[in-house]
Amino acid sequence: MKCNVCHESFDEPVYRSGSHTSLTSLCELRSGQVSVWSCRHCGHLQSQTLDDEASYYKNDYKISLTEEDEDQIYEVVDGQSLFRTDHQLAVLLRKLSIKSGARVLDFGCAKASTTRKLLAVREDVQLHLFDVSDMYKPYWSSFVASDACATFAIPPSWNARFDVVTSFFALEHIGELSDTLATIWQLLEVGGVFYGVVPDTFGNVADFVVVDHVNHFTVPSLHFLLSGSGFTDIEIDAQAHRGALVFTATKVREVLSPSLTDRDDVHERAVALGQYWQGIDRCIAQAVAQHGAGEVAIYGAGFYGAYIASAIRSDCNLVCFLDANPFQQGKTLFEAPILAPQSLPESVSTLFVGLNPAIARQVIESMPWLTARGLSIIYLDNCSHD
Ligand SMILES: [Zn+2]
Repeated sequence: MKCNVCHESFDEPVYRSGSHTSLTSLCELRSGQVSVWSCRHCGHLQSQTLDDEASYYKNDYKISLTEEDEDQIYEVVDGQSLFRTDHQLAVLLRKLSIKSGARVLDFGCAKASTTRKLLAVREDVQLHLFDVSDMYKPYWSSFVASDACATFAIPPSWNARFDVVTSFFALEHIGELSDTLATIWQLLEVGGVFYGVVPDTFGNVADFVVVDHVNHFTVPSLHFLLSGSGFTDIEIDAQAHRGALVFTATKVREVLSPSLTDRDDVHERAVALGQYWQGIDRCIAQAVAQHGAGEVAIYGAGFYGAYIASAIRSDCNLVCFLDANPFQQGKTLFEAPILAPQSLPESVSTLFVGLNPAIARQVIESMPWLTARGLSIIYLDNCSHD
């Protein structure tokens, strides 16, 4: 096992999941344990590559394909939902000055939801799309000409062609990072900008245990990767997008040696995160022992909700999920219906909060009608410090 960023060998993992069932970032169950290693050299965290990586992204990784305008809620402010792609576009426009008529490639784009919205406000942009699956092509054809789309292989005419290459939540899935960065470098013209968003494992702890995220980037490991792949003027922002690192980097003519930045506390934080997840597993097990006899609901039908469900579903009577996202309501997850929060059945006595622990209490406490019902409310970090 070697680091995807600096290629140094790993020792023992900092985390090994207790369960032999793991979750993907799309909330599907897969067999197999999750292990996470921490690189003492460059500060990268890494899990094992999926043994069927190519076919998984070609056939199985179906992000939001069921509904044309499906999106995830980034945050709710004063009752108004801000969707993730709208936020991503706003950050992109704030960070980049895209010249008139710019050639932009969305690399590993899936539905290209963000760059599609870019076209709506910047008709002059010449958008190109690339991914390692054909399943998005029918969707792409509604807004990009077919000769500006490619799958699996990059057309030779695209080399040194682009002013901007974007990558939204793609690099964390890719085992062969060096090859991918070399490809992106080749696609850009000198002075062109690589703009990307990847999960910040220390800002969104779910990233740590998602089985299809083989890379868990940290600021130093991302800096090492970009500086060693022919990029300069590297800026990495951990604030612009909650739970993510947003970066810009400019292509230089020659690929230089990578530069190491301060990574002193990364390993200790990785160890702590491993312990944190082990604490969550213990917390869920305790709550099941204490409250698992009655009817149970889970608030949140995203990753955290699915993580809880995968842990409790054989021991508890899981009646439903609650989710504020109207796109989720009416669907099912692990055969349980997803309801609007106000539709919580009276018979439910225990509510697991399946939200990012950083915001979980704030979200639940903003609904006094829910907290006044006398439910046992279980937060994932309830007993992690026991
Ligand atoms: Zn490394």
